[in-house]
Amino acid sequence: MLDVAAIRNDFPILSREVNGYPLIYLDNAATSQTPQQVIDVIVDYYNSYNANIHRGVHTLSQEATDKYEEARKKIQAHFNAEKAHEIIFTSGTTHSINLVANGFASLLNSEDEVIVSALEHHSNIVPWQMLCEKTGALLKVIPMNEEGELVMSDYDNLLSDKTKLVFVNHISNALGTINPIEEIIKKAHHAGAAVLVDGAQACPHIKPDVQKLDVDFYVASAHKMYGPTGVGMLYGKEAWLNKLPPYQGGGEMIAEVTFKKTTYADLPHKFEAGTPNICGGIAFGAAVDYINNIGFDTISSYENELLNYATKNLLKIKGLRIYGNSKNKTSVISFNIGTLHPYDIGTILDKLGIAVRTGHHCAQPIMDFYKIPGTVRASFAFYNTFEEIDTLVYGVNKAALMLA
Ligand SMILES: *Cc1c(COP(=O)(O)O)cnc(C)c1O
Repeated sequence: MLDVAAIRNDFPILSREVNGYPLIYLDNAATSQTPQQVIDVIVDYYNSYNANIHRGVHTLSQEATDKYEEARKKIQAHFNAEKAHEIIFTSGTTHSINLVANGFASLLNSEDEVIVSALEHHSNIVPWQMLCEKTGALLKVIPMNEEGELVMSDYDNLLSDKTKLVFVNHISNALGTINPIEEIIKKAHHAGAAVLVDGAQACPHIKPDVQKLDVDFYVASAHKMYGPTGVGMLYGKEAWLNKLPPYQGGGEMIAEVTFKKTTYADLPHKFEAGTPNICGGIAFGAAVDYINNIGFDTISSYENELLNYATKNLLKIKGLRIYGNSKNKTSVISFNIGTLHPYDIGTILDKLGIAVRTGHHCAQPIMDFYKIPGTVRASFAFYNTFEEIDTLVYGVNKAALMLA
């Protein structure tokens, strides 16, 4: 059982007010809040051992380096990567995907095909489109159905020996659908293709095991896992990371530099050019500790209860439609009421201190599928409560009446 009251005490921001009401934060799919335990680590870094890492002979530099590499090991353990150097620190999911897409530019040609899903965030679409423009490779799309699920029989037909790469999210940020990535990975490998899984939305809810999944690349952002913004990770199988060329050139990523030729550093440094977000990486490790202390079984069963309770009660509102009704979904509810504009509903909710997201959620193809400009999205974390959902339902009802 989750002691929600105790958990909420860990998050100072949850006790503030917005527009005269207690904050009800239901925009967790965009960014999650940060517990005091992680904030303390950030403050301690700048108070005690802020220094550049890896090359320093002095004590502060060594302390910072040790903590940074310790954080990498925590993240390695969390995702069950075989080797610590298979974890590359990045600025987040978007950076991680661009790093891989850029690397594949030298490996693909116009005979090749890559497959994306209809449920992707723009950051798992646009870098691959840019890759296809550069290489002439063909981009194919796994379609979705009315429930917001991928049509897996069509995926079978898209795969061939021309397929080099499949990229799909683990969980859709716009609808909450959990995609059958085990099956997607197995079938891609059978066709000889590599797979990148965008785990940005999954990692707050699920603990992925990259070895068990046998996934080639897995990417995530700390800020959706109760850590800070501006830091994330790329997991890649060692063989793949050795094969891909570096993404950026600079300090930290080299072995030897002359004006004739530069040789690159070993993994993970080959992909970590320049001074990284040192404090962010260390805080990412602390965030991973925090969520593991609660435990993912506890987190997911509580969040499922919130999801079911909110779904049941929101559907009582006349004209309200929820988009994304897969049986396999996490605590994200995307909805509209008749033809009311999502933005107007979001604005009224904000007046009541309720933070939701409105719009296309960086997933315009999904909105096009449903022929809507956007939705209102409420997304729940383990610090949300049933009472907060009651207030959300009250607020949505009030908005519906005001806008009717
Ligand atoms: C948030 C999100 C992204 C982008 O993450 P950034 O941290 O903004 O780089 C990509 N994919 C999914 C599924 C997301 O939820």
